Amino acid sequence: MDLTLTDEQQAFRDLARDFLDHEAVPHRTQWDRDESVDLEIIAKMAEIGFFGLTIPEEYGGLGGDYLTYVLGMEELGRADSALRGIVSVSNGLFGKSVLGFGTEEQKQEWLPRIASGTSLGCFGLTEPDTGSDAGNLTSRARRDGDDYVLNGQKLFITNGTWADVALVFARTSDDGPRGVTAFLVPTDAAGFEAREVKGKLGLRGQATAELFLSDVRVPSSARLGEEGQGFKIAMTSLDKGRVSVAAGCVGIVQGCLETSVSYATSRTQFGKQLAGFQLVQALIADMSVDADAARLLVWRCADLIDRGEPFGTAASKAKLFASEAAVRAANNAIQVYGGAGYVDEHPAEKYLRDARVMTLYEGTSQIQKLLIGRAETGVNAFV
Ligand SMILES: Cc1cc2nc3c(=O)[nH]c(=O)nc-3n(C[C@H](O)[C@H](O)[C@H](O)COP(=O)(O)OP(=O)(O)OC[C@H]3O[C@@H](n4cnc5c(N)ncnc54)[C@H](O)[C@@H]3O)c2cc1C
Repeated sequence: MDLTLTDEQQAFRDLARDFLDHEAVPHRTQWDRDESVDLEIIAKMAEIGFFGLTIPEEYGGLGGDYLTYVLGMEELGRADSALRGIVSVSNGLFGKSVLGFGTEEQKQEWLPRIASGTSLGCFGLTEPDTGSDAGNLTSRARRDGDDYVLNGQKLFITNGTWADVALVFARTSDDGPRGVTAFLVPTDAAGFEAREVKGKLGLRGQATAELFLSDVRVPSSARLGEEGQGFKIAMTSLDKGRVSVAAGCVGIVQGCLETSVSYATSRTQFGKQLAGFQLVQALIADMSVDADAARLLVWRCADLIDRGEPFGTAASKAKLFASEAAVRAANNAIQVYGGAGYVDEHPAEKYLRDARVMTLYEGTSQIQKLLIGRAETGVNAFV
């Protein structure tokens, strides 16, 4: 399915697909088994421009539009969602927060490093006791002269053990979400520790960490935005992050469709191709419809963002639909493969394991429904 893409957008998508088909797809099963991608892929992805897609040229990025960004995220999702997560968190959740809310010094300090892939960023919002209810987080930042001293714990932080800098959300007052402030914390700061979370169902190639902050001292110049603005920064970043997750899910659905068609047209049972059975075609038809529908929802978000229009509810709809569609498509892809789909020699089972988290992070499906429901009814069901 194609709406009109510019020559540049088309060229980037082709470049991204060709690169990933050669540099990621042949290795993804091994990376998954190893529970880590080969970190050399980071520099290679940076050369293609993945880490600077929406960072302006003056800070070393490509300065591309958001549609180009989602095209890149779709290709990453089709190839390996672990890579999509690494890029999306560093360039997206971290980079876009700095771009949107940082001082000129903060942008100069971090954005060229993020865009070039020489540094990775991470986004530290979730805590052991506050996930969906992030506005009630309990990590603390105490003002001490011209410094802040941070204490607390973060959980499930993508890139956490690889990042050079963490965007940490901590409480500067007891005023609920309005008491949260954001900080740019170098991960080599004294008192900062990251421990790998092992044994994940999917996204096994990417680092996921628990962060421990014990009297971590940062200067006030490390504060991102104003005191009390942290929750707004987090929610603004997550709105765009949801579009990225949704785009990655489009890639999963597309990958499931392609691999299912390939298998169904090459394997024979009862003397004919699997693709000749109507019930197999039904599985494939559902994937095809889901791919188009999810892609259109994602592209609508990108269009709204590129035109500077509000896009939060559209992002929730895209994320909800695309993530559920990705789980559906991957489950159906395993069905098309039969027993072979249960083994990691073929991509279907990895698509399912990777897809499963998409309905959980950056706001679960239930949370997206509450956001959409609130927008439709004007009634806030969170309180
Ligand atoms: C692989 C991975 C990577 C991650 N990366 C990051 C990261 O980089 N940075 C970061 O900050 N976080 C990250 N997360 C955390 C993720 O965003 C949270 O797991 C997610 O927000 C859900 O929070 P929770 O796990 O605490 O679940 P909970 O909030 O405890 O929810 C549990 C269940 O209750 C439901 N529920 C909760 N509240 C409501 C409600 N009001 N109404 C109806 N149902 C409700 C949820 O939908 C869910 O089904 C990551 C998680 C994973 C698994």
